Amino acid sequence: MNYSFNRKKKKAEWPAFVDIKEWKIITPEIHIISSRCKECRWCIEFCPEEILEISDEINEKGYHPPKLIEGKTFENCAECHFCELICPEFAIFVKKPVEEEEMKVE
Ligand code: SF4
Ligand code: SF4
Repeated sequence: MNYSFNRKKKKAEWPAFVDIKEWKIITPEIHIISSRCKECRWCIEFCPEEILEISDEINEKGYHPPKLIEGKTFENCAECHFCELICPEFAIFVKKPVEEEEMKVE
């Protein structure tokens, strides 16, 4: 296989090599496994978008799991996965909807 390339060839300009119209932004979903939560609030404190708050729900351990702040939507999530990384109980994770995992538009 020949990996050489022609340096004289004009460099493609963005978005010539990525046609943004062929892609769509898929909103992630925040999943909270409330039974695992111990209300440490780290996900709330460290979410850079500040979209989480403590809910009124009480889980079987007696803790209040987090929820989306009223008025915020999944679209406000930066999908940084920081809540997921910082949660000591693996009680929160962010994922794109399964049926939309294929990024390319038909
Ligand atoms: S993925 Fe990032 S922006 Fe989204 S809820 Fe978690 S910490 Fe906040
Ligand atoms: S970081 Fe995890 S255990 Fe702590 S409040 Fe958030 S979901 Fe609950």
